[in-house]
Amino acid sequence: MAQDVQGSHFPARHWHRLDDGRIQCDVCPRFCKLADGQRGLCFVRARAGEQMVLTTYGRSSGFCIDPIEKKPLNHFLPGTPILSFGTAGCNLTCKFCQNWDISKAREFDRLVDGAPPELIAQAAKALGCRSVAFTYNDPVIFLEYAIDTARACRALGIKTVAVTAGYVTPEAGAEFFAAMDAANVDLKAFTEDFYRTVCGGHLAAVQDTLVYLKRETEVWFEITTLLIPGENDSDGEIDALSRWVATSLGPDVPLHFTAFHPDWKMSEKPPTASSTLSRARSLAKANGIRHVYTGNVQDASGGSTWCHGCGALLIGRDWYELSDWGLDQSGHCRQCGTRLAGIFEASPGTWGRKRQPVRLQA
Ligand code: SF4
Repeated sequence: MAQDVQGSHFPARHWHRLDDGRIQCDVCPRFCKLADGQRGLCFVRARAGEQMVLTTYGRSSGFCIDPIEKKPLNHFLPGTPILSFGTAGCNLTCKFCQNWDISKAREFDRLVDGAPPELIAQAAKALGCRSVAFTYNDPVIFLEYAIDTARACRALGIKTVAVTAGYVTPEAGAEFFAAMDAANVDLKAFTEDFYRTVCGGHLAAVQDTLVYLKRETEVWFEITTLLIPGENDSDGEIDALSRWVATSLGPDVPLHFTAFHPDWKMSEKPPTASSTLSRARSLAKANGIRHVYTGNVQDASGGSTWCHGCGALLIGRDWYELSDWGLDQSGHCRQCGTRLAGIFEASPGTWGRKRQPVRLQA
């Protein structure tokens, strides 16, 4: 007799039955092993009877139109609006989580908006958004919903962006990223100790995802590292992280160092000083990464894009608002002709820094 599991019972993929009668989820390296009626650590994938189900399919914690720079993506359709949403739950347990009200949500009452994939795609088009973001919580845990939404978006010419920690198995990741056009991947630190004790995960799995994205896909991706004072902001760790990015992923993958604000189980930590972000940016540039950004702070230089050929200002930014545009119609520097890595159109978007909540009506 199947145990009652609250939420939608959309058939989930990537699982198998174990000899002892339990079912193992193979979406992320936690490999939760479940008896009937049990939920995985992410809370949204569960066993109902003899199959795994996704309990949040078609429901969202809310929609908002953001500047794409807020994801952050600085080299993907700059200046354009992106329809952003998340669901509930997460497969990591980061003590510093900046979205804990969503990622730790255990009450489905939070999922206020009924949102089938086709409705999201149609809404994005009607609202003038160029893309849809799966964000606020990690979309790999609602993979079936995210992929169906991405397909509906592609049918209408809308791009999709995954904001993810990249903590996913190779098989599930291959299916997931095949549906995405762009991603921002958190590289939360560069020590196994930090991943294990602060996030409840493993660094190597995230490195594998990043290398896979670079070598095996056309997905445009950028990396974000939230610097937390005393936890992951030493010169040695930033040096090791940026050396690895430069050698394993190449110099053109943009790297964002962003400021931590005290939150969740790290409320006693001070916020990150902007001097720490600037120091990290200098170290990473010295290690060969061409485009290194500071985020969550007022820093016009660290937030702007500079030509690695001649040093000209290519995309000026004031927070999330574009101020200058130095690219030609095909994404090359107007001064020296060097191509800027990324996805650009003939002219930038004009969305600005606005953040606009929207309700979708099914
Ligand atoms: S996706 Fe969820 S249920 Fe599956 S292994 Fe990860 S935490 Fe467990």
